[in-house]
Amino acid sequence: MVTGPSGPSLSESDAYLPLSGLQHVVFCERQAALIHIERVWQENLATVQGQIVHQRVDQPGRDHRRGLRVARAVPLVSHRLRVTGIADTVEFRKEPGGGETPCPVEFKRGPARPRLADQVQLCAQALCLEEQHARPVLQGALFYDASHRRVPIEFTTELRAATLQAAQRFHTLVAQKRVPRASPAPHCRACSLEPLCLPLLSAHPERTTAYIARLFADLGEDAIPKTTDSEDPEVRRAR
Ligand code: SF4
Repeated sequence: MVTGPSGPSLSESDAYLPLSGLQHVVFCERQAALIHIERVWQENLATVQGQIVHQRVDQPGRDHRRGLRVARAVPLVSHRLRVTGIADTVEFRKEPGGGETPCPVEFKRGPARPRLADQVQLCAQALCLEEQHARPVLQGALFYDASHRRVPIEFTTELRAATLQAAQRFHTLVAQKRVPRASPAPHCRACSLEPLCLPLLSAHPERTTAYIARLFADLGEDAIPKTTDSEDPEVRRAR
């Protein structure tokens, strides 16, 4: 049992999950399972560059610019999606009728290239802000450090549906504690877990088993480890 942000004890399948996992699920379910179930992590150049970009914006604080109130490292929660997280930056625009409308802005490394996984992550932040501020959040932005470009993202019905579906898939995956088989694809080249996932091998475990069997067959009897006198007789009998 674990404790959710709303206080009471929750069963594991009801637990709140990290919002960042939605991005992993959309990118690759196996990657999401390796990170959030197996707790596997591996840095590469891209992940380190991403951390440097976030170190600049992840310092909690607030600011005012061009008529906006800007908050950094904003805590987020959605009881509908059962996720928690932190938004890099949220801009609050004053509305003529009173109150403020939030607009999440997520920083990304590299040139402007708004992938669906990043848009789903941003949309999940918007859904959290809608719940927390009880007002519609219709637009956010992805800011790319290499091109210094800010790409506006509309939270359309389709993007909202994709985000809810990603949250559902993420909860199911974690509840089942199942790491899906790899589906090798071009995006594996950009995945920091590629050296641990071994997508070509893990996509076809039966081929790996057959290869190892052939290897021992080629090497002959001598290659198979011998039993020792100290070995349990039960184990010897079982061989
Ligand atoms: S290497 Fe490919 S299959 Fe493996 S976790 Fe990464 S994206 Fe998924």
